[in-house]
Amino acid sequence: MTCSFHRRKLFCGRFSVLIFMRACIIIVEMKQVLMPVTAQQDARTRSERYTVRQILSAVSITTRFLKKRSSFMSEFEKISTGLGEECGVFGAYDMEGGDVAASVYYGLFALQHRGQESCGIAVTDTFGQRKVLSKKGLGHVDDVFDEEALKALKGNLGVGHVRYSTAGGTRVENAQPLVINYVKGTLAIAHNGNLVNAVELRRELEYTGAIFQTTIDSEVIAYHIARERLNVKKAEDAVKNAMKKIEGAYALVVSSPRKMIGARDPRGLRPLCIGKRDRTWFLASESCAIAAIGAEFVRDVLPGEIVSFTKDGVISDMSMAVPPEKQTRCIFEYIYFARTDSTLDGVNVYHSRILAGKALAESYPVEADLVVGVPDSGLVAAKGYSEHSGIPYGMAFHKNSYVGRTFIKPKQSDRESSVKIKLNVIPEVVRGKRIVMVDDSIVRGTTCANIIKMLKKAGAVEVHVRISSPPFLYPCYFGTDVPSNEQLIAHSHTTEQIREMIGADSLGYMEVEKLKTMVGELGYCDACFTGHYPMKVPDHDISHAFE
Ligand code: SF4
Repeated sequence: MTCSFHRRKLFCGRFSVLIFMRACIIIVEMKQVLMPVTAQQDARTRSERYTVRQILSAVSITTRFLKKRSSFMSEFEKISTGLGEECGVFGAYDMEGGDVAASVYYGLFALQHRGQESCGIAVTDTFGQRKVLSKKGLGHVDDVFDEEALKALKGNLGVGHVRYSTAGGTRVENAQPLVINYVKGTLAIAHNGNLVNAVELRRELEYTGAIFQTTIDSEVIAYHIARERLNVKKAEDAVKNAMKKIEGAYALVVSSPRKMIGARDPRGLRPLCIGKRDRTWFLASESCAIAAIGAEFVRDVLPGEIVSFTKDGVISDMSMAVPPEKQTRCIFEYIYFARTDSTLDGVNVYHSRILAGKALAESYPVEADLVVGVPDSGLVAAKGYSEHSGIPYGMAFHKNSYVGRTFIKPKQSDRESSVKIKLNVIPEVVRGKRIVMVDDSIVRGTTCANIIKMLKKAGAVEVHVRISSPPFLYPCYFGTDVPSNEQLIAHSHTTEQIREMIGADSLGYMEVEKLKTMVGELGYCDACFTGHYPMKVPDHDISHAFE
């Protein structure tokens, strides 16, 4: 109830922001077009065009208003019990012309765990006028779309996105897919990841006259693709040329007037896979979304691969790929981000979490009566700990599924109550027992301390904490919100100090060397634990460089 009340309040606020934006736009005369223009209109407004001056004036008014609003909202909204996810992308192309909006909706629904701040769908009819219809909004997939909205999105090629802001603020204009009108048609693009050279690229583009309408690095990619498209015959070559300029983490789903294109950064930091159902091809961040819409998993898009789907078939371009030893998939996808029922690059997430739990049990054995996991991502690792140690596995927590992972609380001091509302201890399970509590990570330590307090209050006599990731010591620049050093408890405290601060009887973190047991032969990134970044990273936080 509390959650829906606050969400309603926020949505009223957002609605007024939208009305204000709309008012700004209405007073602007519709005149000639400057190409390319990033469109973020819905189906009804897709044909509107603005002059440069008019866009600037509308944007500057709304930006001033939204900046105030956004800083309030980010503090108000983003108190979570742990790390935020990144984003999820989804694409569908029905070669026989059937509408795909519903499939994209269900695909996004299955990817909701990757981003809950905003979402959007853009579709085009490759057999008709090839206009792009799109709808985006703040909130969960089922907040933004209803049956009517999906029916209005007529088209057989669709791109979808769920967003968690790791770069750029929580604003409706930052929602994706981005839709770009340019002289060769219209592109829709959905991006998961962060670029490390976005600031330089954006400055370059601005000096050559580009006008940005969002504060996200994805727009830099969109601009580059649109510009490159003017010089090459095929949209996939434009994607390739853009990939030569952008550096960082990205999984892209792009729709051009007659093609769906998927691309993954050469190191494979972010996942992307292919599915098929009858004559419809799909692209998705995770295989769980392919399964959710009843399609067959075909394969992963390989690191550095550009794969295009056309009526003439599927074409793969591996010219941007790097040798396997240079591939660095995000290990935290396996520890936390991805859904347990997903398989990424041939490694099942459930299985890799079981192995993490076993590795923890091997490194940090303890005498105890029960192993419990903190929902959701600690549950499977706890099972692995139990299997290796022989200590029984139990469910100590009830999680309120109706509270989003990002719970709304106005002040830091309210975090404890938000944890309690999300998670409740079952006293009958833990009373009088020595508990091993497995969780995926400790960021600031507040949440972990609260959960331990709850367990002890419910009668647990000892709480031994086991963490299925090594201590976070460095920030992430590749599309997750592992924050800056000073906010990471492990950066300034020893394990013993953290144990004391959180009130645990013992504390053991996954050893860095054992991470490889989770993913076998796959190359992976562990930079947030080791500081060994797979590429040159900025010397400061650029996640809000364009705000
Ligand atoms: S730094 Fe950490 S969270 Fe970021 S990509 Fe690498 S492993 Fe993943």
